[in-house]
Order: sequence, then C-alpha cells, then structure tokens
Amino acid sequence: MTTATGNPTQNPDYALDGPAREFLAGPHRLLIGAERPEALDGRTFATLDPASGQEIAQVAHAGPEDVERAVAAARAAFEGPWAALPASARGRLIGDLADAVDAHAEELAQIESLDNGKPVKLAQYVDVLGTAGHLRYFAGWPTKIEGNVLPVTAPNMLCYTRREPVGVCAQIVPWNFPLLMAAWKIAPALAAGCTIVLKPAEQTPLSALRLGELALEVGFPPGVLNVLTGDGATGAALVDHPDVDKIAFTGSTAVGREIGAKAGHALKRMTLELGGKSPNVILPDADIEAAIKGSYQAIYFNSGQACNAGSRLFVPADRYDEVIGALAERAAATRLGPGLDTATQLGPLISAEQRERVMGYIDSGRAEGAELVVGPHPPAVLADSGGYFVAPTLFSVTSDDLRIAREEIFGPVLVASPYDTLEEVAKRANDTDYGLAAGVWTKDLSSAHRLAGMLRAGSVYINNWGGADPAAPFGGFKASGLGREHGHDGLDAYLETKTVWTAL
Ligand code: NAP
Ligand code: MG
Repeated sequence: MTTATGNPTQNPDYALDGPAREFLAGPHRLLIGAERPEALDGRTFATLDPASGQEIAQVAHAGPEDVERAVAAARAAFEGPWAALPASARGRLIGDLADAVDAHAEELAQIESLDNGKPVKLAQYVDVLGTAGHLRYFAGWPTKIEGNVLPVTAPNMLCYTRREPVGVCAQIVPWNFPLLMAAWKIAPALAAGCTIVLKPAEQTPLSALRLGELALEVGFPPGVLNVLTGDGATGAALVDHPDVDKIAFTGSTAVGREIGAKAGHALKRMTLELGGKSPNVILPDADIEAAIKGSYQAIYFNSGQACNAGSRLFVPADRYDEVIGALAERAAATRLGPGLDTATQLGPLISAEQRERVMGYIDSGRAEGAELVVGPHPPAVLADSGGYFVAPTLFSVTSDDLRIAREEIFGPVLVASPYDTLEEVAKRANDTDYGLAAGVWTKDLSSAHRLAGMLRAGSVYINNWGGADPAAPFGGFKASGLGREHGHDGLDAYLETKTVWTAL
C-alpha cells in the first residue's frame, strides 16, 4: 500500500509522467483572453493532494477586478471574432479540442487523480474519455442549429426563427468530476456560439486551467474560454455580474438555491445541476448478483462523491440478509489508497472538511439508532497518511426519517432498508426532496417500466446504474435542479429563439 509523504509531486511512489510534472510545477495563473495574469491583488491559494493533505501547488485567486476583466474578455470575443466564425469552423475547433484532450489523456488523468484523489484509471476512463466524448458530440452540432420558416396566417408575410447564442456564460463547477463537469458545460456553450468564464472549485482548480490552455493552443479566439480559479466569492461575483447572460452551475442544493434566486431576480438564464438522494430498488425477481454488483458501484463509485449516487437501497424483505451480507463483504474487501496508486479501488474524499461532514453523518446515523453493518474506518496502513480516507460504509435502517436516509451525504455511505410491495417501495422511493436519479433491478419488463413511470427522477436506470452519454439528457426533478444538460436539451439551454417578421 502506498502512503504519501512530503511534496506529492516529488514522491517517487506516485506515477506522474513528465508532462503532468511539468504542468504541476506551475505557475498556475488565471486565463483571461490570451493572457495568463496573476490575480490583480496578487492573492493565491493552495490546492491539496487529498491522499496526503500536502500542498500540490499555489493557484491564483481571482477577485472582483479579475471577474470584471474576464467578463469583458468574454463579451469582446462574443461580439467579435467568435461571432464572425462560420458554424463549421466553430465545430472544427471543438473537435480539435477533443483531439487535444485525447493527445493529453494521461497527463490530464494524472493531474485529475492527484488534485481530486480519484483512482487514475477512473480519471482516464470516465473523466478524460468523457470530456473528449462530450466535446466530440457537440462538435457536430454547430452546423445543425437551424431555425424554421413559419406558416403564419397574415398574408404576404415571411416569418422565420433564428437560434442565437445566449451570450456570455458563467459556468461554475464542483470538485467531484472537475474536468468532466467543465466539459459538460463548455461543450454545448461553445457549440451554440456562446463565450465562457469558467470557475472550477477551489479544491480542484488544475484540470480546468489545463483545458483552457489546450483551447488556446488549438486556436480558439482569445476570450472565448476564460478560466478564473478562486473560491465561492469568485463564483458569487460572476453570478452577480450584470454582463453575464447565463449561469450554469453544478454543486450543492444550498448554493444552487442562492444562485437561482439571484439569477431569477436578474432574469438571467440558468441551468442548475444539484444534489440527490437517489433510490435504488431491487425487485424480488432481479438477477441478484448483477443487482448487488450494480448497487455497490452505484454508491461507492468515486467514493460516493457523485450527485447521482444510489445512496438509498431498497431490498425485498425476504432477500434482505443475503443482499446486505454480499454488499458488506464487497465493501470490506475494497482497497483504499491514493488515486495515483494503480492498485487503488477507492480514493480519499476531497477534503478534511468533506471527511468531517461525512463522519458527522455516520455519527448521526449511529446516534439515531441505525445499524452500522460495515465501515467507516480505513485500514491502519493509511492512518498516518494525512489523507481524507473513509472506508465504504453500510447502514441498515427500518425508518426513512433518519438524517442519513434523507440528506445528501456525498460520501461512501449506503443506507439500506427492506420493503414488502411495489406500491410501498415506489412511495418510499419518491419520499424525498430530491429527484435526480433512481434505479430498478428486475427481469420483469412490466414492473420495470411501471416503476420507471412512477419514479419522480430525471434519470431512471433499469438493470444498470449511472448510464451516461452526451446524447442523453441529464438533470433533476424537484430540488435536484433546473434544466437538462447533454443532447438537444443541453444545447437548447444555450440558445435564444428570435422570430423575424418580414412584410413582403
Ligand atoms: P458548493 O459550495 O455548492 O460548490 C460548487 C461550486 O460553486 C464551487 O465551484 C464553489 O466554489 C462555487 N460556489 C460556492 N459558493 C458559491 C456562491 N455563493 N456563488 C457562486 N458560486 C459558489 O459545494 P461544496 O461546498 O464544494 O460541497 C458541499 C456539498 O455540496 C457536498 O457535500 C455535496 O453534498 C454537494 N455537492 C454536490 C455536487 C453535485 O454534483 N451535485 C458537487 C459537489 C458538491 P468553491 O468550491 O471554490 O468555493
Ligand atoms: Mg486539490
């Protein structure tokens, strides 16, 4: 088992290749137009390796003046060179960025794994491949954005619609999939012809900066994609800026509500991808092995730090002990460690704060009488690592009212409970403020689709968990958000419709 000591970028245990090392050595300045300035007031902050708590690098901390400059650069590009580019050229550039991501795949995966803590293979296959895939999907869109000629009643009238870019977009992303969440946001915005100020999370600022550099390298006009590293105040200044036309946010429901209220007041366009407490239902006739394997992945993937984590598991009462036993066995056998150790199956949580939050929920579960089946203490070998490790944890509950059964934990904590009938489980699954995702495991088509219709969630996974594709809409019902990302819906969120009336 690898344990980290000292400066993580110099630790020989870490498999960092030359390009990643070179990038990590810095400097990590803002990206505004074609420039790489320090923050105007000179502030920086540290980004840490979650596997050791050690500093990776200092990063520029954008303040209000930097927000001002970045929004101005985005506005100038929107009205200038970017608007003048034919749709086909826009598409080609987005495709070129996808190719650049592929060409730098290992470097990006290593940067992401070090900054976020996730296993490097996961970073490569999910985050980096997903990033290239999103860019490539949206690279095909610019030449297919069409208006209509409308059969209006008025005589001698030509009436048609144009689909026009919304304008300057503030895109604020979280730390759980830093590069991929950035790609989910920039790809449709670029396809639509918008310009961007991207604000990565303070815990994981590095991959967004690298993505911004690659965009400049492949030839995007300066100002089309600006990257401001900073904290929540940087994000708030962007949201408040009067020259921002649209806000796209992924993160907590609490911050999402705040942004939604501000954007609503200013009548800015917005899409919000927020939290979840997603139910995962195993039906009595399910392929039980597949259901156990899938349910394990549903919650423990990315250390439970996924908005669509399957965090509430419902199991038929007569299969309950069997399923819980098998899940506990798998959980106990999971290998924890630093993301850059290729033997690692589960990385640390993102930060000391997040670890404390998750441990607080685990304490509350115990205090409220839930049965702790397995977890949460990492193996002794990681005790002195300084990393933010929490082992896969499983609670068994008989009430849906406990805090651990109602609130988003955003960590490797599964809350399981038994049920008796389909109607009962549908009702209990929907008894939540959230509505991001839901899962059903069954061989019976009729129950599968009946339940899919009854579940109040933006995505329903039948005999899988977490199916995702750039073509397939993703987003939440209820407190899980507003609007959809991916596919036609995702593109629409970056377009305005203009109706043109011409008397002939
Ligand atoms: P968060 O505060 O919602 O952060 C998400 C992003 O919003 C970050 O870039 C953050 O910047 C920025 N931000 C924070 N306050 C802002 C404000 N007032 N105005 C504009 N932007 C603002 O999430 P968190 O504190 O990192 O995590 C807390 C909890 O949120 C987690 O435990 C989890 O439950 C949930 N979460 C959900 C998702 C998801 O995918 N739905 C992702 C992450 C977290 P800084 O990080 O730089 O401060
Ligand atoms: Mg970090």
